[in-house]
Amino acid sequence: METAKARPIECRLMVIGAGMAGMAAALFAARRGISTVQAGLTGETLYASGLFDLYGVSHGNTRELIDDPWQGLKQLEQNHPEHPLCRVSTHQIRSAIDLVTDFLGDAGHPYTGYPNKNARLITPVGTIKRTFRVPETMWAGVQALEEKAPCLIVDIQGLRGFSAMQILSTLKPSWPDLKSASIDLPWENRLGPKYAEHIARGLEVEAARRELADAIRPHLEQVKYVGLPAILGIHDSEGVRRDLKQMLGRPVFEIPTMPPAISGIRLKEAFENHLPPRGVQSFYHHTVHTIHRRANGRFVLELGRTEPETTVEADNVLLATGRFLGKGLVAERQGIREALMNLPVCQPENRSCWHRQQFLDPKGHAINLAGLEVDDRFRPIDPDGKVVYENLFAAGSILAHQDWIRTKSGTGIAVATAFGAIEAMAGSGC
Ligand SMILES: Cc1cc2nc3c(=O)[nH]c(=O)nc-3n(C[C@H](O)[C@H](O)[C@H](O)COP(=O)(O)OP(=O)(O)OC[C@H]3O[C@@H](n4cnc5c(N)ncnc54)[C@H](O)[C@@H]3O)c2cc1C
Repeated sequence: METAKARPIECRLMVIGAGMAGMAAALFAARRGISTVQAGLTGETLYASGLFDLYGVSHGNTRELIDDPWQGLKQLEQNHPEHPLCRVSTHQIRSAIDLVTDFLGDAGHPYTGYPNKNARLITPVGTIKRTFRVPETMWAGVQALEEKAPCLIVDIQGLRGFSAMQILSTLKPSWPDLKSASIDLPWENRLGPKYAEHIARGLEVEAARRELADAIRPHLEQVKYVGLPAILGIHDSEGVRRDLKQMLGRPVFEIPTMPPAISGIRLKEAFENHLPPRGVQSFYHHTVHTIHRRANGRFVLELGRTEPETTVEADNVLLATGRFLGKGLVAERQGIREALMNLPVCQPENRSCWHRQQFLDPKGHAINLAGLEVDDRFRPIDPDGKVVYENLFAAGSILAHQDWIRTKSGTGIAVATAFGAIEAMAGSGC
């Protein structure tokens, strides 16, 4: 017997993608009261350090470190107006970042930073990174570095990918009052092998925090700040940090860890738990399998986990499917292809132009600038500059003319272009 087919879900906007760009777009759309359905896997968010980069290294052939991102963006506009960050005003970029960080603050992960300059903080290998917005749990590390104050970096014995000695050996020449300690966690030994997620969830329990503080206390002589790997809880990391600060009697801060990272899990869970109550109908861990456009302009999408389970009919689609890692773009022998709709991809002439001779060439590689070309309203265009569909928008790392890894602008591009696309869509009355 044939079963009746479920009615399609109707919405004004379908967001394809659940990385930073898709999550931000869904948030902005919900805030404007736009009925929104969203689908996607976790994307690159799980690898994220939790830092919100906006613009930390100059785009183009010279590699300059940027202290004032707003000044840097002015220069970017003069020299590279095709860059996606130049399609959004400074005011819009600020609003976009504030809306996302306020949302994360409400979800238990407050962010902070300077109004007009990048913060500098320690990476897990002991280098210094510039970023625009920093989880509150990491902020005391920015201050400790600025003051070059007496500081203890702690690692956990048996926890891979974070070594206090490694950080010390890189930074000690410029920071003489830095010291390290490697401690054992008795309660973790009872649990078996040490995994960052185990420890983070464990530290949400007060008794475990006490054991951690007891293990650190003997190393505190002449120490003003204490730095730990970013493992201080999943859902209330700032609460865990504050409690440890009180127990140790001095500021405590987290240092980002290598990917995949607890900070990525925090972001993922914050978005997945707090966007649906704001009205986003979400299909996380689902993929869009097919998409076609009706003669009346509406999009019909089939989505599901491994095969189509649900049909969505949408007035507008926002494509935030990422680059190669997110699977928005596919690199093949013949060239780079947009995976879902076969949209035109702006790319180097042929494969031999993808990379420069040297892997670490400071100018970067041409393949990292490939992606969708869009108009001022974030609608994909073809090589003649013609808009592909007036109700199709794109945002995030899938966009052409930007190399977010090299310019330290991953979240900035994702969030700012998502904001630009949603504003354009809302303004168009589509
Ligand atoms: C190792 C690593 C470290 C990073 N560190 C930082 C950092 O320190 N600071 C910073 O600012 N940024 C950082 N980033 C960048 C940031 O996490 C995002 O990658 C970036 O912001 C781009 O996000 P995106 O949403 O455009 O793409 P992605 O995160 O790639 O998301 C793409 C989304 O599209 C979905 N998708 C693809 N195809 C389909 C389909 N057919 N149907 C449904 N969904 C689909 C995917 O499932 C995924 O949800 C880091 C990224 C990585 C990989």
